[in-house]
Amino acid sequence: MSDCLFCRIVAGEIPSARVYEDDHAIAFLDIAPFKRGHTLVVSKRHVPNALADADVLASLAPAVTAVGALLTERLGADGLNILTNVNEVAGQSVFHLHVHLIPRYADDPGFAALVRRTADDDLDAVRAALA
Ligand code: AMP
Ligand code: ZN
Repeated sequence: MSDCLFCRIVAGEIPSARVYEDDHAIAFLDIAPFKRGHTLVVSKRHVPNALADADVLASLAPAVTAVGALLTERLGADGLNILTNVNEVAGQSVFHLHVHLIPRYADDPGFAALVRRTADDDLDAVRAALA
């Protein structure tokens, strides 16, 4: 879909800080990270959200596992929040399936702290550590 932001990123028409790719997914750094290393796993095929197609959702699992390992091993994450928003009421703003991987660190714990944006948005440094 030519008017879909994430389709255009998948196609390479819009730049992204890409850290992973396989047959079904790409992963790139979120442009406005909640925490250092906040990464989006994005399906190569356009479907609007995680409930639209079970096969596409399942096909993202290897990418989620691989990127989760990268964030743990290379960035030193102590844990992660893994989530996907379905529909505007849940906070979805880009209507192309993506899974948020949000690294969590011991000095900033807890679910309530999740939605604070980080001041550390140096995507170049984070990408250099991951890719
Ligand atoms: P959601 O609100 O769940 O649909 O998530 C969309 C995410 O995409 C947000 O966290 C945005 O910060 C992120 N985002 C929007 N545009 C870009 C972009 N060009 N590159 C990377 N991340 C983006
Ligand atoms: Zn799309």
